[in-house]
Amino acid sequence: MNAISPLATLRTDLLIGGELSRGEGLVEAIIDPACGETLVEIAEASIDQVEAAIAAAQQAFPGWSKTTPAQRAQALLAIADCIERNADSLARLESLNCGKPLHLARQDDLTASVDVFRFFAGAVRCQQGQLAGEYVPGHTSLVRRDPLGVVASIAPWNYPLMMAAWKIAPALAAGNTLVFKPSEHTPLSILALAPLLAEILPPGVINILCGGGEGVGSQLVGHPKVRMVSLTGDIVTGQKVLQAAARTLKRTHLELGGKAPVIVCNDADLDAVVEGVRNYGYYNAGQDCTAACRIYAQAGIHDRLLARLGEAVSTLRFARKKDADNEMGPLISARQRDRVASFVERALGQPHIERVTGAAVHSGPGFYYQPTLLAGCKQSDEIVQREVFGPVVTVTRFDEPSQALDWANDSEYGLASSVWTQDLDKAMQIAARLQYGCTWINTHFMLTSEMPHGGLKRSGYGKDLSSDSLADYSVVRHIMARHGKVPL
Ligand code: NAD
Repeated sequence: MNAISPLATLRTDLLIGGELSRGEGLVEAIIDPACGETLVEIAEASIDQVEAAIAAAQQAFPGWSKTTPAQRAQALLAIADCIERNADSLARLESLNCGKPLHLARQDDLTASVDVFRFFAGAVRCQQGQLAGEYVPGHTSLVRRDPLGVVASIAPWNYPLMMAAWKIAPALAAGNTLVFKPSEHTPLSILALAPLLAEILPPGVINILCGGGEGVGSQLVGHPKVRMVSLTGDIVTGQKVLQAAARTLKRTHLELGGKAPVIVCNDADLDAVVEGVRNYGYYNAGQDCTAACRIYAQAGIHDRLLARLGEAVSTLRFARKKDADNEMGPLISARQRDRVASFVERALGQPHIERVTGAAVHSGPGFYYQPTLLAGCKQSDEIVQREVFGPVVTVTRFDEPSQALDWANDSEYGLASSVWTQDLDKAMQIAARLQYGCTWINTHFMLTSEMPHGGLKRSGYGKDLSSDSLADYSVVRHIMARHGKVPL
């Protein structure tokens, strides 16, 4: 650790009931994926600390749920301002913890996190619903939207602070109290924020616990006083959470994996496709559930696309000394890098799959994997069917758009997709039939706080971002009042 390292001043305490306290559980090393060295050691929450956090959230619920939307909005705006004021140091922690280029963490993750808090501050003040009225003669019905209680939110490692924002902002805006658990790999930015959140929110409204999935995570999911679990993670984790939540019939909100199809028609703007896939197939080293990773290219454009894209992907810059020179970081762990490498090895073991570029572990320090493009892939190949979550893009040739559409939908995933053509009619017809939570036309990857993000099929259910997310973190209730016996 050098003198200017943001770790020098980092607080690694948990936040429980408004108090910062050291974890009393297992001590885990947090690794810098860009070099493989230990950044800091963090003690996880003990079983008693998890209990205490849930009890604190439960105790805070009556007060917080009675606040007005305007009061909650004020708190969310204060959190946004606080993240914005500390954006440089938070970005540095995010970059250290995930290995992602600092300039990208600052420009993308931090900006988006601030915007999410601001969006929900506004959205909670202008929710829409059914009109109150006399739907039964002599009775007035009205609808309320109320919070659920204690929400346990469990986040992944790919965008630690942004995922925290996606989960914390709508849950608090809706009037719930929260126990938040970051990924065991990437707790640093939210731990740095914890003391600042404690100054803004009443004690117990948000509690932050570190720990692994099987320990702290499953204790949260199984707890009878937790009324909702929100998870962003792997499909297998989603299945475990769902099974555990069934015992206490909790509401679940699951944002799971993705394997985004990218349908490129003959009439697509080739420059735009090359630029789009280079940017959005490899962004965050492909550790993105919407990554443009599964290309279907029509026969008339296929060879030109392959040549141009191969060249473009081979120029992606990573593992350079100067931060601004990097477009991509490492994978989060040696395990994740090896997992990516073994997917590619198995793919290249198939005689029909051809390496266009990449396909090797980077030889220097850190958990880098070369940006990889594979051609000749068939629909039934593992590399086309399964989420790699690394910088690996496949290309499959098709003849007719209907075939590409069938292949795109022939997937267990249903999160994001894109179609590239200059024929708007064709684009709209394909978009209408794609079974994905989002379809982009002539772009990919763009998210905005106002629009819903979430999957179909095994990509999970429930929406992040947008006012749909506020609906997911609350419950609609019907109030009916009988009129007086004497007519006016
Ligand atoms: P992961 O499933 O391993 O872990 C996610 C979180 O779940 C972690 O905090 C982990 O500790 C916790 N967890 C693990 N087992 C648990 C259990 N039994 N009970 C409770 N909690 C448990 O996922 P990851 O490796 O951190 O993230 C990568 C995955 O997340 C990928 O599959 C990716 O597609 C998905 N993801 C999805 C979205 C989306 O919006 N759909 C966004 C980002 C990441």
